[in-house]
Order: sequence, then C-alpha cells, then structure tokens
Amino acid sequence: METALRIKGLNKHFANGKHALRDIDLTVGRGEMVALIGASGSGKSTLLRHVAGLVTADANSESLIEIDGRCVQRNGRISSDIRAVRAHVGFVFQQFNLVARLPRVFVAQERAIALEALTRVGIADCHAQRASTLSGGQQQRAAIARTLVQGAKVVLADEPIASLDPESSRKVMEILARINREDRSTVIVSLHQVDIAIKYCPRVIALHQGKVVFDGPSSTLTPALLRDLYGVQADEILAPAMAPVVAPQAVPQPAMAGWAARTQVA
Ligand code: ADP
Ligand code: MG
Repeated sequence: METALRIKGLNKHFANGKHALRDIDLTVGRGEMVALIGASGSGKSTLLRHVAGLVTADANSESLIEIDGRCVQRNGRISSDIRAVRAHVGFVFQQFNLVARLPRVFVAQERAIALEALTRVGIADCHAQRASTLSGGQQQRAAIARTLVQGAKVVLADEPIASLDPESSRKVMEILARINREDRSTVIVSLHQVDIAIKYCPRVIALHQGKVVFDGPSSTLTPALLRDLYGVQADEILAPAMAPVVAPQAVPQPAMAGWAARTQVA
C-alpha cells in the first residue's frame, strides 16, 4: 500500500513544559479512513496540527512527518517545500469561520468546480449565501467542499462534528466516508466519541496523554479494552454521541414523568 502519512519519533513539549505528544510513530496508507480518538486534552488537535505543518515538533530530537513521501517537517523544522505539500492537504476544523459568500471562498476561476463540489456535499442551494448564515453542519460541508476544490489527497478533520446535532453529524461523517470511498482520499478524522469512530472508520488510533495506546481495526475496539486503556476517562469517549445538552435533573420532575410515560406508550 502506498503511504499517505508517515510519522516517526514525534515528540512535542510546549513552552510551558507540557509533553503533549510522546514518541508517536504512525503510518497511514493511501485511501485509508482513520479515526483519531481520545479524551479532551489527549493530543488529537496537536497531532493534526503537526501533520498540517502548523506546529513544529521538539527541535532537540529526531522526528519526521511526511505526506505522500514529501517532507512536512523534520527534527522540528518545517520543510522549505511546505506550500507544495499543503496544497494537497485539506483541513476541516471544529470551528469553521467563513465570512465571504461561498463561491468567494474558492478561487474565482474555479466557480464551476466549486459548484460541483458544493453539489457533492449537498449544499449547492447555498452557493450564493454568506457563509456566516449557514448552519454549523452546512459550514462543515462547505469546508469539505473546499478540500474537494483543492483536490486534496489527504483530508485532516479535527473534531468536525463536535458542535453539530446528530443529524448534521451523520451527514458530515457520511460525506467524509463518501469522498474517501469515491476519490480514494485519505481521511484522518479526530473524534471525541468512539461509537462514531467505529461506525465510519475501519481503523482507529487512540491517544491517551499524548501516546498512541491503540492502533488497529475499529472492530477490535471493545468497551472493556477502552476501559483498560483510559481508566475513568473511558466514560468521556464511550458516552453516546450528542448526549442531551440539558441534564435530566434540570428538567422539572412532572415533565420528566410525562416524557417517560409518553415514551413507554410509544
Ligand atoms: P485534544 O485535541 O485531544 O483535546 P490538544 O491537542 O488540544 O488535545 O491538547 C493536548 C495537550 O496539550 C493538552 O494538555 C493541552 O492543554 C496542551 N496544549 C495544547 N496546545 C498548547 C499550547 N499552545 N501551549 C501549552 N499547552 C498546550
Ligand atoms: Mg482538539
């Protein structure tokens, strides 16, 4: 299998001394769809930001990050070739803040391509809309469309569904899965919740306190194993996705009773 991403010996200490990434060695093949899971603070964003060349690894240790065989950074120094490498990497962030009208997000001469991409992610209707008026789910789909226009071979998505409702989350994950399948793009998506990771990604990489503690088929990832890996933090990533925002105790008792009665009847 061709290698899309290679990471060797990656360590990151932040200026405050925090050892955020520890001895990361990873290889991702072309066309894989990989979930990067872990509790908050486990290092998911930091890892993706290193892969995108937005952050440099520790300067005093040997490390390498390559995408499609091209160096992103080596020994804590960004490659001089970084612009060319980044041209093939799409990034979808948790918060996506577009301000212009959608087509202006894309280069003008690529209008037709932009429309086609917006169609593929199901938001062609929104093409004349200001991005700030799009829903969170539509904004994430626009971000994915932008990676399509870019012709990104590798898509890095950092908790793209973190602030979306279940239905929008499902759509965003399905679109990522589809571009992975149809375009053979490599997709690496960080997710807070393990159930979504297992549903959409054949391979899961689990981070815990900056270390890779599991890397394998998502089918082999069981709640028991996650409890072994994460201890009490397992609950944070095992919790069903999109748990109700309102805590049950915040709901007045009579309403709770009525709700329970209705669901029993249903
Ligand atoms: P995740 O995305 O999994 O929630 P992050 O990659 O954001 O985790 O953070 C990993 C760890 O690194 C956390 O302990 C976080 O507080 C720390 N961290 C992240 N960015 C910085 C920074 N710029 N300076 C210091 N510590 C940081
Ligand atoms: Mg994060």
